[in-house]
Amino acid sequence: MNIILIGPPGAGKGTQAKRMIDRLQVPQISTGDMFRAAVKEGSPMGKKAKEYMDKGALIPDDVVIGVVNERLAKADCKKGYILDGFPRTLDQAKALDGILKSMGTKLDHVVVIEVPDDYLVSRLTGRRTCRGCNYMHHIEYDPPKKSGVCDKCGGELYQRDDDQEDTIRQRLNTYHGQTSPLIEYYSGQDIVRMIDGTGSMVQVQDAITAAIGA
Ligand code: AMP
Repeated sequence: MNIILIGPPGAGKGTQAKRMIDRLQVPQISTGDMFRAAVKEGSPMGKKAKEYMDKGALIPDDVVIGVVNERLAKADCKKGYILDGFPRTLDQAKALDGILKSMGTKLDHVVVIEVPDDYLVSRLTGRRTCRGCNYMHHIEYDPPKKSGVCDKCGGELYQRDDDQEDTIRQRLNTYHGQTSPLIEYYSGQDIVRMIDGTGSMVQVQDAITAAIGA
């Protein structure tokens, strides 16, 4: 099953993707996680990516498409995948169409998680990400048992630079300007599933399960 998750920053794409991979037994491909790993490694690509990420801007399409193209060619993607955070522009969506065609596959579902901007600002400023396993706690809605320490792996929790309020506003503008037009792009195919992302994690998970029939 090939699935794309679309939604504004903080809508819960990463959280839902992690829940879906256990059920569907396919990998989660998060371009955000891949770029954060490159930043951590300090690779030349990571250094360049950080400039864009810190501003709340998108990394240039050719870089992102190259990374995804390489990742989708790996053996673990043969059974399907969940793309979390890609595509984010029309050019990325067109490139993905080309990749799918060359592999003889297609998209099964475009899951769109909708959440109003005001909710998102409060959600994102409270988010704390684990340096070890990338799990995301929230200081209010999903606090760790011990402050600053991930419940899942004991790693150190930190606030991502791009989870500061100014950057969040910029990321929301980027989403509305460049990514939300993708919903229209895919609407010609009968694969768009609109999900209300304002409920609890479990409610959103149930809504996605019902929408994709899995
Ligand atoms: P995310 O964790 O998905 O919110 O991604 C964090 C940041 O990584 C974004 O704000 C972008 O700067 C960059 N990024 C992730 N995925 C993409 C993409 N598909 N296209 C461009 N930039 C991306």
